[in-house]
Amino acid sequence: MDVPEIIICVDCGQKAHRITQAPEDGWEVGDFVAYRCSGCFDRWDLVVEDSDLDESRGESRFDFRQWLSDREDEKSS
Ligand SMILES: [Zn+2]
Repeated sequence: MDVPEIIICVDCGQKAHRITQAPEDGWEVGDFVAYRCSGCFDRWDLVVEDSDLDESRGESRFDFRQWLSDREDEKSS
């Protein structure tokens, strides 16, 4: 598994570099990854998800699994 070294800051559009070192045994889903924006210096704390691992850019995306689980919650309540 791999996560991008650089994502695009959603606030200012500048590159945000990863500041969390890769674990010795590699990334796993659920790991926290921190990025520091080179433009606005905001820190971004992300959680590794399946869909992150094949994306090279931090573009916003629709979280389909979250949407499904939300729907499941609605059905059961
Ligand atoms: Zn920024």
